[in-house]
Amino acid sequence: MCGILGLFYKDRVVIPNLVEGLLALQHRGQDSAGILTSDLTLHLKKGDGLVTQVFNEKNLARLIGSLGIGHVRYPTVGPGSGEDAQPFYLNYPYGIAMAHNGNVTNYFRLRTELRQQEHRQLTSFCDVEPLLHIFASVLERSKTKQIKPETVFRAIKNVLRRARGAYSVIGLIHQQGLFAFRDPKGIRPLVIARNDHGYAVASESVALDIIGFQESEDVKPGEAIFVDRQHRLHRYQVARADLHICIFEFVYFARPDSVIDGIEVYEARLRLGEKLADEIQHRGLKPDMVIAVPDTARPAASALARQLGLELREGLIKNRYIARTFIMPRTANRALSVRQKLNPVRSQIKGKDVLLVDDSIVRGTTSREIVQMIRDAGARRVFLAITAPPLRFPCVYGIDMMTRGEFIAKDRTEEEVGKIIGADALIYQTYPGLISAVRGKETRRRFCTACFIGKYPTGITRKDLRLLEAEREYWTKKAS
Ligand code: AMP
Repeated sequence: MCGILGLFYKDRVVIPNLVEGLLALQHRGQDSAGILTSDLTLHLKKGDGLVTQVFNEKNLARLIGSLGIGHVRYPTVGPGSGEDAQPFYLNYPYGIAMAHNGNVTNYFRLRTELRQQEHRQLTSFCDVEPLLHIFASVLERSKTKQIKPETVFRAIKNVLRRARGAYSVIGLIHQQGLFAFRDPKGIRPLVIARNDHGYAVASESVALDIIGFQESEDVKPGEAIFVDRQHRLHRYQVARADLHICIFEFVYFARPDSVIDGIEVYEARLRLGEKLADEIQHRGLKPDMVIAVPDTARPAASALARQLGLELREGLIKNRYIARTFIMPRTANRALSVRQKLNPVRSQIKGKDVLLVDDSIVRGTTSREIVQMIRDAGARRVFLAITAPPLRFPCVYGIDMMTRGEFIAKDRTEEEVGKIIGADALIYQTYPGLISAVRGKETRRRFCTACFIGKYPTGITRKDLRLLEAEREYWTKKAS
C-alpha cells in the first residue's frame, strides 16, 4: 500500500502543501518518501524512511515549481530497496513522472516484454516503472509543443490495456500538466479536488482536507484526468468502470477521517462495531468491559461497547513513537515490538473479564502477545473480538499479505485460531456483517474482498497466484 498526492497550482509553489499532504498519508507507507516537482526543469528528492526523515530545509528549497507529485511507499513487489522509491521519471519525451498505489500483477511479464520487444531497460523492481514506459511510448509519437488531452488519454488507455491488477496513478508531464488515472476496478482509492489555487489529486481525502481542498470527489474506476497548462480540467472514461474498492481500506488501512467512494471510513468502522456486538450478544458472552487495541479498532470498539451497554476503557496504552509492528519482517521481532508499543493499565484490568477489540488478525503474532499481556496484567478472562472476518487469501493488490502461509486462519476454524492465540473466546465479524457494515447507505457498493473469500475481481488464476507467491518468497528470502 502506498500514498500518492499531486498538485498543480496557478499562483504558488506546491512544496509546502505537498509535504503537509504526504504527512497526512504517512499511515499508507513508511518505507520511503519522494517528491518530484516541475519548474524550468524537473527536481527530485526521494529516499528511505518517513517524510520527516527524507525531507529537510535544504532539499525542500530546491523542490521549486507549481506542479508536483509525491509518494509514500509501503513495499509490495521486489526487494524494497532505495531504488524502488517513487516518483519515477523519464526525461524523454517531454519529461514524464509517475507515482502509484497498488500492485501490477503482471509486472514481471511487462518487464520482460519491455526489455525484449521494446529494448527498454528498467532501473528498479518498482511496478510503476513499466507503466511509465508504456505511457511514454505513446507520447513519443506526439509531435506538438503543447500536448493534447486526447494524446494523454490514448497513452493512459494503452497502460490500462496492458497492465493488470490494482493501480491508482498520479503523474506529471513537464510544462504540460498533471494527470491521474485509476484501474477499471478502482481497487485503490483516488480523489480529486479543486480550489482557487488549482487542482489536487490524492489517495485519500484527508490529505486534501488539510491543505485547503474541502470538496473532493472520487476519480472513477477506469477514468483518466488531465489538467493542462492553462489549468483546464479534462476527464475521459478510458475503460468501463466496474468498481470493486478494497474493503480492507475500511477495515484497517485508510484514515478514519477519510471518505472513500462515498463511504465515510469512521462511520463504516462504527457500523463494524455494531455488527460485531450482535455476534457477541448471540454468543451470550458477558464481559465486564471493552478495551480497544489502539488505534484502528477504536471507533468500532466504542460503538460495540455502547450497543452492549458496557464501558470502554483505555486499558492498553500505546507508545506513539514506535512505528507500526506489521512492517517488521521477522515474527520474533514483531512480538518484541508489540511489547514495546503497547502496555496494559493493570488497575483497569485486574480481576476482570475483558473484551478486547482489534481490526484484523493476519499472522496472529500481535493478538497472541496482546492476549497474554492482558492476562499477565491480571485479567480473569480475555475475549477477543475482530472487526473483520478471518483473513485467508493473499492480497495481490498492494496490501502486504501476499502468501497464504502468512495467515493463521488459513486452514483453521475460529475455535482453533482462538486456542493458538490463547483467548477464552475469539469472535470474528461475519462476512455478511462486514459487507453490510461497510456499505451502510451505499447498499449497492461492490468491493474487492479477495483476502476474505479468495475471489479476485481481476480474474487471478491459481497459476497466477502460485507465480506471485513464488516471486514474493524469492524476494523475501533475498532480503533476509
Ligand atoms: P498479525 O500480528 O500479523 O496478526 O498483525 C495483525 C495486526 O496488524 C492487526 O492488529 C492490524 O492492526 C495490523 N495489520 C493488519 N493488516 C496489516 C497490513 N496489511 N499492514 C500493516 N498492518 C496490518
